[in-house]
Amino acid sequence: MALSSSSSSITPVVQSGRIRILKEGSFKQKCGGGGPIVYWMFRDQRLKDNWALIHAVDEANKANVPVVVAFNLFDQFLGAKARQLGFMLRGLRQLQSNLAQTLDIPFFLFQGEAVETIPNFVKECEASVLVMDFSPLREVRKWKEEICKRVGDSVAVHEVDAHNVVPLWEASSKLEYSARTLRAKINKLLPMYLNDFPNLQAPDKKWDGGYRTIDWDNIIADVIRKGAEVPELDWCVPGEVSAMEVLMGSKDGFLTKRLKGYSTDRNNPLKPKALSGLSPYLHFGQISAQRCALEARKVRNLHPQSVDAFLEELVVRRELADNFCYYQPHYDSLLGAWEWARKTLIDHGADKREHIYTKEQLEKANTADPLWNASQLEMVHYGKLHGFLRMYWGKKILEWTSGPQEALALAIYLNDKYHIDGRDPNGYVGCMWSICGVHDQGWKERAVFGKIRYMNYAGCKRKFDVEGYIAYVKRLVVGTKKRNGEILAGQTAKEVKISAI
Ligand SMILES: Cc1cc2nc3c(=O)[nH]c(=O)nc-3n(C[C@H](O)[C@H](O)[C@H](O)COP(=O)(O)OP(=O)(O)OC[C@H]3O[C@@H](n4cnc5c(N)ncnc54)[C@H](O)[C@@H]3O)c2cc1C
Repeated sequence: MALSSSSSSITPVVQSGRIRILKEGSFKQKCGGGGPIVYWMFRDQRLKDNWALIHAVDEANKANVPVVVAFNLFDQFLGAKARQLGFMLRGLRQLQSNLAQTLDIPFFLFQGEAVETIPNFVKECEASVLVMDFSPLREVRKWKEEICKRVGDSVAVHEVDAHNVVPLWEASSKLEYSARTLRAKINKLLPMYLNDFPNLQAPDKKWDGGYRTIDWDNIIADVIRKGAEVPELDWCVPGEVSAMEVLMGSKDGFLTKRLKGYSTDRNNPLKPKALSGLSPYLHFGQISAQRCALEARKVRNLHPQSVDAFLEELVVRRELADNFCYYQPHYDSLLGAWEWARKTLIDHGADKREHIYTKEQLEKANTADPLWNASQLEMVHYGKLHGFLRMYWGKKILEWTSGPQEALALAIYLNDKYHIDGRDPNGYVGCMWSICGVHDQGWKERAVFGKIRYMNYAGCKRKFDVEGYIAYVKRLVVGTKKRNGEILAGQTAKEVKISAI
C-alpha cells in the first residue's frame, strides 16, 4: 500500500497531515460527471466534528459529485455481543436519519464482509474516491489493504485520522516508549491540530441514486438475540446527542456539572461520576475527542487541575494507546512487551501462585478476593468497570493464572466481552500495562510479578472504602438483575400476546 500525504492544488478544508493517500486512482474526474465519493465509516460513527466526513464532502464539492456513507455490519467482530452491537446500531440508526435530514447524505448499511461489500458498492455506484477513517487495529488494516486491491485501478483511497486530535502518523513515526516520550511530541503539534471544526454544509450535489430501506428493528432484534449472553445496558443512551449531553449537558454534564471532582476523586471507585463517562461514546466515535478537548480547554480557568488531568487521559494516554497498537504488531501478546518486562515475567513464570483460577471461575467472579469479585461483577453487570479498579483487576489475573500469556488472553477476553468500551486500543494497552508493564517502568522485584508493578487489597483499602464499594456493587447487581428480569418478562409477555393474535 503506497502512503503519501494528500496533495491538491486547492487548499484543502482538512489539513493535509490528517489525510493519507492509501492508493492513487487513475480515474480523471470530469466535473460533475462521475459517481459519488463513498465514505466507508468504521470507527468514527458520527456526523458532527468528523474529519473523514468533512474530507468526503470537500472532495465531492471539488468534483461536483454527491457523497454517500457506507457502513458494514460484520457477522462477527472481536466477539461483540448485544451490549456493544445494540449500542452501536442504535447510534447508527440516529446517524442515518441525521445525515439525511441535515446534510441530505444517504447512509447504506451492508452486512457481511467489508472486503466484499465495500468494493462491490464502490463499483456499483462508480465512485472515484473511497474515504476511510482510521483505526490501528490489525483486522481493520488488513481489510483496508484488501479493499485497496479490490476497488480497481481507477479508484483513489484516502484515509483520514478522524479519531486522534493529532493524527497518529504526524504525532510520531515510531513506537513510543511511554507517555513521557509521546507527550512532548503531541504538545508540540496541538497548536496546529487542536483547532475548531469547519461548519459542515450539505454537499453541493445531491445524491439521486435512490435509497435502500434499512430494517433497523429487525437487525437490532437479531443482534440482541444472538448476543443475548451479554445484554444491553440501560444507563448508557447511545448516539451523538446523548454523547454531547454527557460532555456538556445542563443536568449532569461532565464539563458543566462534574468537572471539579476529576482532579480529586477520579481514583475513587465509589465516586464513578467523577470520571467523564465518555469512553463508550469515544470508542464508537459517537463523539470526537477533539470536541471534548476543545470544550474542556474553554473551562480550564474554572478547574485547571481537572482539565489538565482530563486532557492527559483523553489526548496523551488515549493517543499513546493508538500509537502502541499501530506500531507494535504484537499489541495483545507477551511478544509486545519490552525486553525487560518479558524477561522478568519469564523468569518468574514458574513461581508458585497462591491461587490458580480457571477461566470459568474468573468469569463467574468466584475467587477468594471479594474486591476482585466485585470488580468483575461491576464489569459484567454494569458494563463499565471503574478506571482505577481496571488496573487492580488486570494485575490480579496475572497473579492467579499459570503465566503472563494466559493472563493476558483471559484479561482481553473478559474485557472485550463485557465492557461497553471494549475491543479498543485503550483496552489492549490497559491489559498490556497491567500484566506486561507496557508504558510503565520496572519496580522492586517480587514473586510472580517480577519487576512488573504490583497492586494489592491492602493498598486499595488505604485509597478508598473497599467494603463500601463491595456493598455498592451488590446493590448494582441486584438492581440490574431485577430490571433485566422485568425486561425479559415484558418481552415474553409481548411474545405470548403476539403469538396469540
Ligand atoms: C486493564 C484495563 C483495561 C482497560 N480497558 C479499556 C477499554 O476496553 N476501553 C477503554 O476505552 N479504556 C480502557 N481502559 C482505560 C481506562 O480505564 C478507561 O478508558 C476509562 O476508565 C474510561 O472511563 P471514562 O471515560 O469515564 O474515563 P475518564 O477518566 O473520564 O477518561 C476520559 C477518556 O480518556 C481516555 N483514557 C482514560 N484513561 C485512559 C488510559 N488509562 N489509557 C488510555 N486512555 C485513557 C479514555 O478515552 C477515556 O474515555 C482500560 C484500562 C485498564 C487498566
